[in-house]
Amino acid sequence: MDSDKLSPEVIGRFESVVGKDNVKEASGGCGECCCSGASIVVCPSSVEEVAAVMRIAKEEGVCSKEFKIDLSANMNKIIKVDAENFCVKVQAGASMDAVAAAADEAGFILGNRTTCEGATIGCLVYSNGADIGTYRFGPIRDNVLNLEVVLPNGTVIETGYDDISAYMSGYNLNQLMVGAEGTLGQICTVTLRMYPKAVVKPLLFNYADLKEAAPLISGIANHASLRPLYVCWADEKYNSTMAGHAHEGCKNTVLVVLHGDERIVEAEEAEVVKLAAGAEKLSDDMAAHMWSEAKTYDCCGAIIPAKCFAAFAGIASDLTDGAVVGQMVDPQTVLFSCVHKDGKCNCKMGAKAAEFGGRPAKIGNTFDADVIDEAALGLMKDIRCAIVGNKAPANERLSREVTPEIISELEAAVGKDNVNTGAEERLLYSHDLAPLPGMAGIAFKNIPDVVVRPTSTKDVAKVMAIAYAHGIAVTPRGNSTCGLGGCQPINAGIVIDFSSKMNKVIKVDPENLCIKVQAGITFKEALDAAEAQGFVIGSHPSSYPAATIGGWMGTNGMGVGTYKYGSVKDNILNSEIVLPDGRIVETGYDEIGDMMSGYNLNQYLAGAEGTLGLLCSVTMKLHPRGVVKPTIYNFENLADADYLIQAICAHPSIKPMHISWADFNHFENQRRARTVEPKVHVFDECKNTLLLVLQGEESIVDVEDMELEELAILSGGTRLSDEIAEHEWEERCYEFRARAVGVGEIPAEVIVPAKYWGTFVGECYKAFDTMKMDRGGIIGNAVDPNTVLFMPYYFMDNESMMGMTAFSFNFHVGDLAVKYGGRTTGLGVFFAWNLDNIHDANTVALMREMKTALDPRDVMNPGHVVCGLTRFGITLSHGLMEFASTLLQTVKKVMPQDTTFSDNIARFRYNTLEERKAEDRRHVLGRGYE
Ligand SMILES: Cc1cc2nc3c(=O)[nH]c(=O)nc-3n(C[C@H](O)[C@H](O)[C@H](O)COP(=O)(O)OP(=O)(O)OC[C@H]3O[C@@H](n4cnc5c(N)ncnc54)[C@H](O)[C@@H]3O)c2cc1C
Repeated sequence: MDSDKLSPEVIGRFESVVGKDNVKEASGGCGECCCSGASIVVCPSSVEEVAAVMRIAKEEGVCSKEFKIDLSANMNKIIKVDAENFCVKVQAGASMDAVAAAADEAGFILGNRTTCEGATIGCLVYSNGADIGTYRFGPIRDNVLNLEVVLPNGTVIETGYDDISAYMSGYNLNQLMVGAEGTLGQICTVTLRMYPKAVVKPLLFNYADLKEAAPLISGIANHASLRPLYVCWADEKYNSTMAGHAHEGCKNTVLVVLHGDERIVEAEEAEVVKLAAGAEKLSDDMAAHMWSEAKTYDCCGAIIPAKCFAAFAGIASDLTDGAVVGQMVDPQTVLFSCVHKDGKCNCKMGAKAAEFGGRPAKIGNTFDADVIDEAALGLMKDIRCAIVGNKAPANERLSREVTPEIISELEAAVGKDNVNTGAEERLLYSHDLAPLPGMAGIAFKNIPDVVVRPTSTKDVAKVMAIAYAHGIAVTPRGNSTCGLGGCQPINAGIVIDFSSKMNKVIKVDPENLCIKVQAGITFKEALDAAEAQGFVIGSHPSSYPAATIGGWMGTNGMGVGTYKYGSVKDNILNSEIVLPDGRIVETGYDEIGDMMSGYNLNQYLAGAEGTLGLLCSVTMKLHPRGVVKPTIYNFENLADADYLIQAICAHPSIKPMHISWADFNHFENQRRARTVEPKVHVFDECKNTLLLVLQGEESIVDVEDMELEELAILSGGTRLSDEIAEHEWEERCYEFRARAVGVGEIPAEVIVPAKYWGTFVGECYKAFDTMKMDRGGIIGNAVDPNTVLFMPYYFMDNESMMGMTAFSFNFHVGDLAVKYGGRTTGLGVFFAWNLDNIHDANTVALMREMKTALDPRDVMNPGHVVCGLTRFGITLSHGLMEFASTLLQTVKKVMPQDTTFSDNIARFRYNTLEERKAEDRRHVLGRGYE
């Protein structure tokens, strides 16, 4: 094998790894993807071979453009189709069609399908385009559960988990690798979510003029329930000539493809037909024909705010001599493309897009200055250097001493009133919600030198620039509800308090379905602002009266609404972030989605707990609210609800906004503590309950409700009154009321694959007994169809040292979760050591290298997530903490049974629930009473 670019020695080394037959001259790629341009093609057969090839390339200084790794030849297998866990694991060279067929055979569909000829799953994951399915199931990055990636130095990492989603698991590598167009590593295996196969109903509408379809497009975008599988359009020119054959009777057409359960699809069809009033509805045969020919067109054109559909449709045909086609990407975004008979594109749509608040649609565009602004480009290059760079920069840690001069600099930057060095103030900011014993000061330098209250992103940038110049540690703080020491300083320095003054709604934009807020706003305030205009903001933690948006982004948490809308990161259109050196970066676009725009910066800070940068403002998607309908079912035993949980996870249409459970102990303890509202006889009736909260258009919610009731009856559940359902929905952020008797009430938080829900209920009960706990209850919620969050909680004596042994229950339940393919959640300072438990060594090493490279002076929340650092620089290491865990569990098991709750009942008794609720509502955490 000869090459005019690679030396025979290099080619020989490649051949020695993959075999002579597997090193070839290149003959072009699929053209549109990431794989064209190289002269030599290497076709490895395993991840190990890919790693060896990458290592050789690095050693020989061979640039990735000089050779191409082609996985389609030998790494194209479907590893497993897991019908129980709704996922498929494949080698990245597997063809899109083969994987779709395997999913189909098992009764599923993929969330995204591209029609790019010869596309492999790798191509799909490398690009960050708009595919068939994107409107219903989100972009490909939302559908990736796990990736096995070979980094340029030959190290193999795993970015997520095959069986559960990657919330609260450190840096967001899954979503960083997706859409990176291969610039961060070679993706070798991919685990994708699958969705139950169901009725597919294409509907086709005909318009005299394409722009007349605007009411249908905006009607779908603004609908509280409709999520078609695909919505695309084609103009008259396409329908008359370009399709290869004439589409008889078709002028300008919009194809709406519904997918799901038959009764719900029927109800949705009625809604779509209403929205298309005035259009001619073409025959089902023609609709089916159009669907069979449906293509994705994302290689050129324009990405435009959906609200501008009519305006752009009015001029699109003047911008190309081809035909105009397009699709809805999400409720905010539409994509216009063109089709030419000769395949050559000369359209000017991209150039025109900016006038409409849009941008050109390009693929293969990482680092393209047309699409990405300079600051964002700078961050992308930094990220690339951090992952691909040959060596981490020297540690530049400076003295960290906060001198009076530095305080003066801070005062000059943000105003004297916003800089506080008072002793009491600093003490208040030395821990989060978890009370720290005074002894903690031995381990951590947790009292900050100064508390700063910026009012704007620019203020934050100034503070960071000062901190960076002097090497001062900066700890961002929302409302400190994390509980794992997330916003607890470990090296004194500056605490930035986001909640005090960066808590404003900047704008609610119903036309563009978005809300822009400062990151220190509480979820309650943001949700109230959205609801006042008829929207919801997706999800919120159950601590939402206090938790800030910046804080939840920092933890990448799971909560109320996650089952339907994902977490906060999944709802971001744009944000302003500040990097460790004070640079301000805009991560996306206020009015359109961020596909095809380089690395996923919108989700970059998710789970970083303030260690990579600061979230300052954020533009989030708004979802039309419709009705919110809580329903509740009662079961003899909690585990009996398993059938219903599994049926919902496997349901092709119904996505309740919230699914949560509570067991008999939970209610019984509240009754004993007398923390119930007497007029609703909740505790007489509630045994073990499943709360299902539906949200959307009323007519569709009614059908969903009916279907769920049928499933619940099959499951042996009994429906409780709407009054109880409303009560339990309202109680979603008051899960720990039994504390009123003066006990500690601590949850052990773990996630496990949803398929083990019933089994894990049993494990939780056994765990209470094994560890001799004072049972609080078993509560939890479904995170997505793959993942469920369990929070078995217990009572403990906060006042005695031995009471602390109760924490061993958390370790015990964490170990149990691992047995079932799950894990504990959350890191902060106290559980940062757990990063080594929840990822393999290479992946953890990459996260640590990223932290060093992206924050070389270690100023951003040092000692969190990637290492729990004590004041002496000693890390709370994995080995040390494993030892402590085993020891604590052993001691707890030999101690007598806990009886803290009963002991305390006699001491404290309240029945002032309503008064306390009213008080809670008046009190705005972090800001006193309104
Ligand atoms: C009763 C109760 C219920 C809870 N329910 C849930 C739940 O349902 N789901 C869930 O996930 N969690 C839950 N939590 C945990 C906690 O409330 C959440 O993690 C919450 O989002 C933290 O928000 P906060 O504003 O209090 O952040 P903080 O605790 O102040 O900070 C959390 C982390 O984010 C970082 N941070 C804060 N602001 C920023 C910023 N602007 N930029 C960058 N980093 C920042 C901090 O440094 C810290 O590492 C619950 C806690 C309690 C007490």
